[in-house]
Amino acid sequence: MPDYESVGCAFKSRRARSSATRKGFKGPGVQGVGFEHQNPETPESQNPSCEHERWMKAALVEAEAAAAEGEVPVGCVVVRDGRIIGRGHNRTESLKDPTAHAEVVAIGAAATALANWRLSGATVYVTIEPCLMCTGALVLARPDWVVFGARDEKFGCLGSRYDIAADNRFNHRLKVMEGVLATQAGELLRRFFRARRARLTVDNRRLANDRKRT
Ligand SMILES: [Zn+2]
Repeated sequence: MPDYESVGCAFKSRRARSSATRKGFKGPGVQGVGFEHQNPETPESQNPSCEHERWMKAALVEAEAAAAEGEVPVGCVVVRDGRIIGRGHNRTESLKDPTAHAEVVAIGAAATALANWRLSGATVYVTIEPCLMCTGALVLARPDWVVFGARDEKFGCLGSRYDIAADNRFNHRLKVMEGVLATQAGELLRRFFRARRARLTVDNRRLANDRKRT
């Protein structure tokens, strides 16, 4: 999971690092909401900016549900034709499954709902930049767009560690927008890991005290 876990390694907004200078870029598709990586059009391009925030808020609700379950708070929804067709949040701890990331859960649910593994025409909203596994799953699922909130500097594969979307050797090229409600998404993670570190500190102190007594 993201390196929000390490002390001092916090989410950095990198919206300004986006491909503003790349050929064909015509600025954020939706003013003030996010930055496109490489494509001139935007997901659900007829919709106003609040639409992206609306769907990202639904993904954040999923992330909060993950936190409530003691899972790393990442959430995801898959949207097609103006409605959510799949949603999911991290469940790696509860399912004891390293592959149970929010995106994998959500695209699985969407494929089940459509009775089709191809998510053509869909937009995937995820609170944090997808990891290597999830980016691979997204390439295979073939949604039109991936919109994510905060970057994951350590594991993100849509611009941070790698930029899979920029690699045209795959048979499906994801269109990517980032930075939608990034602050909220990053803050959820920071709060989660801060609480976990505090808990660990208390546990360690208790353990040290117990050792002194024995
Ligand atoms: Zn992942």
